Amino acid sequence: MNEIAPAATVTPDPAVCARGPIGLLAELTYRCPLQCPYCSNPLEMTRPRDELTTAEWQDVLRQAASIGVLQLHLSGGEPCVRTDLEEILKTAVEVGLYTNLITSGVTLTRERLEGMAKLGLDHVQLSIQDVEDDNADRIAAYPGAAAKKREVARWVKELGLALTINVVVHRQNIHNVERMIEYAVAAGAGRIEVAHTQYYAWALKNRAALIPTRAVFMDSMKVVEGLKAKYKGIIVFDVVVHDYYAKRPKPCMGGWGRSLLDITPSGKVLPCHASEQLPGLTFDNVRDKPLAQIWLEGQAFQAFRGTEWMKEPCRSCDKREVDWGGCRCQAFAFTGDACATDPTCEKSSLHADFAATAAREAAAPPPPFIYRRLTGPGAG
Ligand code: SF4
Ligand code: SF4
Repeated sequence: MNEIAPAATVTPDPAVCARGPIGLLAELTYRCPLQCPYCSNPLEMTRPRDELTTAEWQDVLRQAASIGVLQLHLSGGEPCVRTDLEEILKTAVEVGLYTNLITSGVTLTRERLEGMAKLGLDHVQLSIQDVEDDNADRIAAYPGAAAKKREVARWVKELGLALTINVVVHRQNIHNVERMIEYAVAAGAGRIEVAHTQYYAWALKNRAALIPTRAVFMDSMKVVEGLKAKYKGIIVFDVVVHDYYAKRPKPCMGGWGRSLLDITPSGKVLPCHASEQLPGLTFDNVRDKPLAQIWLEGQAFQAFRGTEWMKEPCRSCDKREVDWGGCRCQAFAFTGDACATDPTCEKSSLHADFAATAAREAAAPPPPFIYRRLTGPGAG
């Protein structure tokens, strides 16, 4: 059940597959009962009535399989608020996609999860906010969330599905990094994502409330390294380090337009889920154009694909095809220039300012969270 199955009914197009994506993040809806202050969803939400229909998602999945996509991440928001999730999943399984449900778990029932397991769901990625229930529920602004998540983790294993526990780490739960990893091991997860907060969207608004000091971050990494050694062969770690305390950036999305694509609830196709904040990009919509054409020729995909767009110091750097210049959204958020070197990089002229911003905010008492609330046109 956890193997990647071959495409059953769709013949991949070799021309597109030569440089096709392997992963699709399908953001089925921005609706979510939780209000995490680090949510990467946009500040402006899509109206439920503007979301892609069941048939439109099914068509998108057939197209995705035909251009070589292997892995489907059913995400949101909370994908389980879509009552047609099972129909979408069924099509994904039929076309041979490996299916990963990214969920907070709070709306799930055992019957519904069992139904999805029977349809062929491969994997569940369950997020937790903390191991202390009161703090976890405070962070998510959802009473009872932590207790429900423990129950859901148990169902996932009982049903024979692969489980990843995802933890977004920040100054208000970092003291429990060890216990959160132990939680994942005890839950029987095969993988844990220890993801230090990435400061876009709601997280950027809440940065001062979320950012730990460098010393606390470094201590947490020692804990993670120790547990990685302890649990080698038992659980796989995906660790996303804290950008503000790093020396080199990550190859964001594996490089812009290289292997992953993201489709928003209303059908816009993005090279990265945060890229709508960047100026000068035109995002094509699956309602207007074939996915293959968007991937190969879309203005937003071409804008930062490869290395031609780079300025110095990236342009002449020997790491330019390793990290692909880092994150465009972070470069824009901090420098105002989407083509600038990611300030995470030591070679950026703004790296010192970047680190100083973190130090200043982390040293001050955390302000109250600004919770993700569905207001404005997307509320519903
Ligand atoms: S980060 Fe929290 S609020 Fe945002 S979609 Fe995920 S569970 Fe919902
Ligand atoms: S200068 Fe650019 S390409 Fe070189 S390491 Fe820094 S971000 Fe990466």
